[in-house]
Order: sequence, then C-alpha cells, then structure tokens
Amino acid sequence: MQIRLANTRGFCAGVDRAIEIVRKVLEQNGSPVYVKHEVVHNKTVVNELKGLGAVFVEEIEDVPTGEIVIYSAHGVSKVVQKDSEEKHLEVYDATCPLVSKVHAEVIKYSKLGYECILIGHQNHPEVEGTMGQFDASFGGSIYLVENVDDVNNLEVNNSSKLAYVTQTTLSIDDTQTIMDSLKRRFPDIHGPKTNDICYATQNRQDSVKQLALECDIVLVIGSINSSNSNRLKEIAERSGVESYLIDSSEDLDHKWLEGKTEVGITSGASAPEHLVKELVSLLQDKYNCSLFGEEERADEGIFFRLPKGLRNG
Ligand code: SF4
Repeated sequence: MQIRLANTRGFCAGVDRAIEIVRKVLEQNGSPVYVKHEVVHNKTVVNELKGLGAVFVEEIEDVPTGEIVIYSAHGVSKVVQKDSEEKHLEVYDATCPLVSKVHAEVIKYSKLGYECILIGHQNHPEVEGTMGQFDASFGGSIYLVENVDDVNNLEVNNSSKLAYVTQTTLSIDDTQTIMDSLKRRFPDIHGPKTNDICYATQNRQDSVKQLALECDIVLVIGSINSSNSNRLKEIAERSGVESYLIDSSEDLDHKWLEGKTEVGITSGASAPEHLVKELVSLLQDKYNCSLFGEEERADEGIFFRLPKGLRNG
C-alpha cells in the first residue's frame, strides 16, 4: 500500500492568523479570554486553546461585562458587534480578511439600496455573520440561496438592483451552477468577477481532485462542522473514490483500507499538520506502506497580518 499526500492541504492564512490572535491575547492578558464560537472549526485546535485558557461561548450574553472577546475566523453580524459594544467588551477580531471582504461588499450593496443574495449554507456561522452585515435601514433585503431550487423559488422586490456574494468555503463547481442560474433568472444581477470562494478552498479542492484520480480511498482530516473539509470529502466521492472525514488517526476504521493500494490523505483548512503526520506514521507502522511524492505542504504565498497591538515589534 502506498500513501499519497495532497500537496495543498491544512492550515490556511486565515486560520493561522485566527489561532495566533487567540494565543497572543492569552499571552498578553492571561486567562480567561472569551472566544465567540469555535475560533476555527477544528476539535483539536479548540481543545488545545481551551487548555491555554480560552473560553468558548456561543452568545455575547455569556461573556461577562468588560471582559475580552475574540470573534472567530467566520466573522460576526452587526448585532453581535453592537451587543459587544453595549457590554463594553474589549474586542479582538479574528475574522478572516477574506470574509471581511465579503462583508464589505454586502455593506456597500445595502448602502447603494441594492438587494443582495448570499449563496451559502444555512446556519453556518459565516453565513449568519455575512447576512447580519447587510444594513436593511437603506430599504433592501438580503436573501440566502443554497441551491438552484432556491434560486427558482426566490422572490425579490427589485430585480434591477440586485447583487450576489458567496460564502468563502463552498464547492467551486456547485457554486458555479448556482451563479449560472442566478444570472439566467436575473440578467442584470451584479456580483464578483468569479466568486468569493477563497484561495485556500480553491487550492484544496483542486488538489483533492488530483489526489482522487491517483488513489482508491481519500482520507480527509477535518472536523464534522468544517465546511471546507466536508467539501473535500464530497469532491473525492464525486470523483468516484471512497472518502472519509476523520478528526484524527483515532477515527480511522481499518476495514476501510481492505483491498486498497493507494491511500490519499488531505486535510481541511482548519486541521493542524501534526494530525496528518500522525496518520501517516500510523499507516507506515501498521501496514509498512511507503509515502509517495512530496511530503511537505505547498507554500501558497498568502499571509495575513495580525491586528495592531498583537504584532511583534
Ligand atoms: Fe479565510 Fe478561506 Fe481560510 Fe476561511 S478557509 S479562514 S476564508 S482563507
């Protein structure tokens, strides 16, 4: 049996930055530091940060007045920002800059009196945050569509002042299909040149497609609530190979490997690299398999600066 690793996998620049923000704020202020929602969707990362003193909460009302709160990489709504202000919280914003860019688009469209359509998954915190950035006081509305049926059933007030944005971690192919149906139904719709799916999601999806061509099983390391990790598993399955999403090597069911000769491994944008290394070691020790190709992750050349006050020097 051989192991192949996706050359683009694991932490993205937004996740690196978000985790570093929590670590630095803890270093500077000590525990407790409150974090609204899992800072990134990964069980191992969240447990590590809990061990350092981070306290994860879902609602601002669970943060005591005047304390420190960090917003997760998924971003927050205007209501959350207002509630934080009212409670005099000291806010550190770990929203990924690529999510903030989508927020800025939504705010711009609302101020221009446009209605806005967000392509995304209901109940995902990024979607809640982005929908909640739309300023309805200018008279428009924001709508969520998850699929082509939603587009066909959508009723808008003014189709000549309509725009769309997308969640950053969607399937590229599915999103293109939804965008095409939006453009057919609303020919005057405004939107980004391609979509708002981030470079990290795009690169990991391209990489897992290639991996699926070479392997007969693809293991994706990532947590069940991680949108981009779920998309990697789906893409591998659609390419015709078995695929499983696992938090770590502990979740591996060895029956999955029976009869397999090429095992592909990738990891979502919020999954730490040490989990990949542990899975590789386990497979090498148990099955004496070799590692084919590049072991190190590709450098994607993207880096996001920490907020002021947390930068070194
Ligand atoms: Fe930012 Fe994309 Fe990473 Fe999400 S997956 S944190 S949008 S770079």
